[in-house]
Amino acid sequence: MARMPGATWHPVRNFTRGGQDSVRGVVVHIMAGTLEGSQAWFNNPAAEASSHFGTGKAGALRQWVDTADRAWAQSAGNRTWLSAENEGVGGDALTEQQLDDNAAVLAWAHQVYDVPLRLASGPDDRGLGYHAMGGSEWGGHTSCPGPRIVQQLPEIVARAKRLAGVPTDTEDEDDMALNAADVTRILTTDGIVPAPSNAPDADRNKFWTVASHLATTTAAVRSIQQSQADQSKQIAALTKAVAALTARLEA
Ligand SMILES: [Zn+2]
Repeated sequence: MARMPGATWHPVRNFTRGGQDSVRGVVVHIMAGTLEGSQAWFNNPAAEASSHFGTGKAGALRQWVDTADRAWAQSAGNRTWLSAENEGVGGDALTEQQLDDNAAVLAWAHQVYDVPLRLASGPDDRGLGYHAMGGSEWGGHTSCPGPRIVQQLPEIVARAKRLAGVPTDTEDEDDMALNAADVTRILTTDGIVPAPSNAPDADRNKFWTVASHLATTTAAVRSIQQSQADQSKQIAALTKAVAALTARLEA
């Protein structure tokens, strides 16, 4: 049994119990539909389709099939590859959130199944693959996930490496000090740090961006400022009451 900590567990009906013979890597797909629509489809036995993981354009990551079980996403590739469906239609590019979520799935597969963090060259290789690379054996889905997403696969690998703490291939960069662009990147989407233990959704999100931490901290500071303002008001009211009392006693 293997479920990914950062993904929300929504088990579906369509899968082969205990049917995942091995894990060569993760296969990227495009749904031609929505996250909810795909989930409903994967619960319909007549569809004879499912996927281990699914992402939403706005950032939802779901696990539909346990990775010990075989999902039905890429025909002959089902026994040896995990599958990741992505909300959208053919021709779309993945959103920033979807890039992060696919990278998180790949980094997790690296951690659990020792999947190498690189592009797979074909069905017999290992790493990050995509549906069309399997050709007719994998159902002949030549337009899944589409050229724009295939172009984004190296970015998914790069993000997975950052998540896994593996050095990236970009030479010369490792020993250089951070530049302004690096700092901006860290402060926006790519600075992945563990969720604070008191975060409301820490149990669902294994990773938080630095931006999430900043937002949480800012909210906490605002709440402290508000309670200080309330206390100041109460102190002022009390001071007034004491002054009135003193005046009466002196009168
Ligand atoms: Zn596909």
